[in-house]
Amino acid sequence: MNPCPICKSTADPAVVTAFEKMFGTLAQYEYSVCPQCGVMLLRDRPEGSRALYPDNYYSFTSKVCLTKGIKRLFRRACLKLYSGQNKFAVNFLNKLRKPPSIYEWIRLARLNSRSRILDIGSGNGLILSAFYNEGFNCLLGIDPNIPEAIRYARNFTIEKRSIQETDGCFDFVMSNHVLEHIRNQDEFLTEIGRVLDPKGVAMIRIPIKDTYAWRHYGANWVQLDAPRHRVLHTLSSFEMLVRNNGFEIADILFDSTGFQFWGSEQYEKNIWLTAENSYSVNPGKSLFSSGDIARFDLRAQELNAQKDGDQVCFFLRKL
Ligand SMILES: [Zn+2]
Repeated sequence: MNPCPICKSTADPAVVTAFEKMFGTLAQYEYSVCPQCGVMLLRDRPEGSRALYPDNYYSFTSKVCLTKGIKRLFRRACLKLYSGQNKFAVNFLNKLRKPPSIYEWIRLARLNSRSRILDIGSGNGLILSAFYNEGFNCLLGIDPNIPEAIRYARNFTIEKRSIQETDGCFDFVMSNHVLEHIRNQDEFLTEIGRVLDPKGVAMIRIPIKDTYAWRHYGANWVQLDAPRHRVLHTLSSFEMLVRNNGFEIADILFDSTGFQFWGSEQYEKNIWLTAENSYSVNPGKSLFSSGDIARFDLRAQELNAQKDGDQVCFFLRKL
């Protein structure tokens, strides 16, 4: 019996069977669940995983829109006021415009427009574009799976490469929904540590198991996403993983959405995420009214407040 790679427990793992339901192949996969730390690990998966990430996989198809000129300069000026944390200025700006959701990350990681930002597994750069549009000036995305490099601006590029092939020193290194796909998680965190400034912040955003959606939907939990997700962490297994690799958790932001409900409800009824009557493909043909979706989003906000939503941003600092 191999010990748990996270907590080293040698106790017999439980086995969970899950089916591929994003594309509806219904291929069957087995996961081991550690009885001590709760981490869930994909037992095996065929090599040649390209078929599991077809070209219409969501991270490659989102459209990037850039803000330029005066509007971007104005937003950069606003960013300076936010970064300065001047209460009067921040209240005034909040009245002018609801700040985009990345402002919560900017606040927790104490970023400013000069911060050097790396996005690992950036796809075509959708999330980085939100930073660019607020006036950030040093943005690099990397993703070995994009067709080719993209140069949006002098200070905003996406390179076709892995973290192992990337050098440099960054104030903020983020990976949005990447870690759950990676088998060798110790290596991934070591690589983040290699390119992160000693005073920098790493943000890792992943689904979190043992929260309400997992307890309620089990193997139909939409963010289990067999077999793309190889490792599903609990809060405690993730904390052990980062400590084992020289980091501590500085902040935790629960940011789950109504997706955990409508996606999992669909899976219970064998409606694939990419099906013609899936809410993400064709809301009008889906099971849900706009009122249902609004209730799901509200329920997600309640779960986040209770630290029970199924998705988390962890903000890490070096030990
Ligand atoms: Zn364990």
